[in-house]
Amino acid sequence: MGNLSYCRFRNTLPDLRACVDALLDGPPDEAGEFRAAEKMRQICQDFLDAADCLDDYRACGKGCGQVIGLREICDCGEDD
Ligand SMILES: [Zn+2]
Repeated sequence: MGNLSYCRFRNTLPDLRACVDALLDGPPDEAGEFRAAEKMRQICQDFLDAADCLDDYRACGKGCGQVIGLREICDCGEDD
């Protein structure tokens, strides 16, 4: 089952961290896993390029759940 769009990043984060930790111990020793790791390498490079879109935004510091422009004041009125 695929990740729901509203939590895909949170759900993927621990798995991605586990993959990084595994690579730090050395390359996968099974061919399918090795090929998947190579594909992940390209996807991670694509992710870094796509993540440039994050630069102009931030999460509200008070946990209202909204994402706002970097210099905007949150309309929840509880911005930090
Ligand atoms: Zn807010």
